[in-house]
Amino acid sequence: MPEPPGAAAPPDPPDRPELSELSELSELSELPELPEPPATSPALPALAVEDLVAGYGGVTALHGVSVSAPEGTVTAVLGANGAGKTTLLRAISGLVRVRRGRVLLHGADLTRRRPEETARAGVAHVPEGQGVITELTVEENLRLGALTRIDRAARAGALAQAYEQFPVLAARRRKAAGTLSGGERQMLVIARALLSRPRVLLLDEPSLGLAPKIITQVMGLVAQLRDSTGLTILLVEQNARAALAIANQGIVLHLGRVVEAGDPAALAADTGLLNHYLGL
Ligand code: ATP
Repeated sequence: MPEPPGAAAPPDPPDRPELSELSELSELSELPELPEPPATSPALPALAVEDLVAGYGGVTALHGVSVSAPEGTVTAVLGANGAGKTTLLRAISGLVRVRRGRVLLHGADLTRRRPEETARAGVAHVPEGQGVITELTVEENLRLGALTRIDRAARAGALAQAYEQFPVLAARRRKAAGTLSGGERQMLVIARALLSRPRVLLLDEPSLGLAPKIITQVMGLVAQLRDSTGLTILLVEQNARAALAIANQGIVLHLGRVVEAGDPAALAADTGLLNHYLGL
């Protein structure tokens, strides 16, 4: 029998039982006390990295790297394998010890802060490799990202906003994250990072393992996020052309040093440079 007009759509049946522990998990909002984030100045670049030296034990991976990212821009961070791109993101978010130099968020000094402190100050980091928990549903994965939002109402609002920004996730909210395509998983990890309402997003190789058509979609999404939210994004990419196509500026790292920086169109047109440093 046809459905009467105006009938409400039946609720989306869960694909499997909810994990009851998760709602308990979301009560874990009483996280350890952290110092208040330092005061920031809106007039200064959203993110400034000054003369950063960082590494691992005896390995120095960054030899005095500087980057200045104005608010609401995408900076493409390019370079061959081992150039220091991932280390740069890890040093900014406090995962790798900074030996020299400074990390400033709107002028506030975040150098050598713990990762949870940089996160609380407004820096979200999406590491390489689409770290979703495949056994949990899309919604459960998102809820984990919302854990650091202390206020319950704010958490609900953030989830609703995530579904607005990523309708494809809304449609799949009760599906196990393991059933998502590579592009959808990338959206999920980005959406999860955005739940903390960051001011700066560090994105490490979002195109990794994706088909060219999907890479274009993910890059489009990154540009759209910047334009709709004013987010400042550091975008690490092996896929230089795709990143430069949406970036406001680009830097090229080589052996832990910035060897070129500037206008993305000019960088993309410099075939000698791309060939020399990126093998393109
Ligand atoms: P890729 O695209 O391959 O990830 P990358 O540009 O991100 O490269 P990094 O991963 O930052 O480069 O590596 C920079 C340097 O630091 C390399 O010489 C690398 O071997 C070294 N390195 C990275 N991680 C570690 C680690 N955990 N311990 C020791 N050395 C490391």
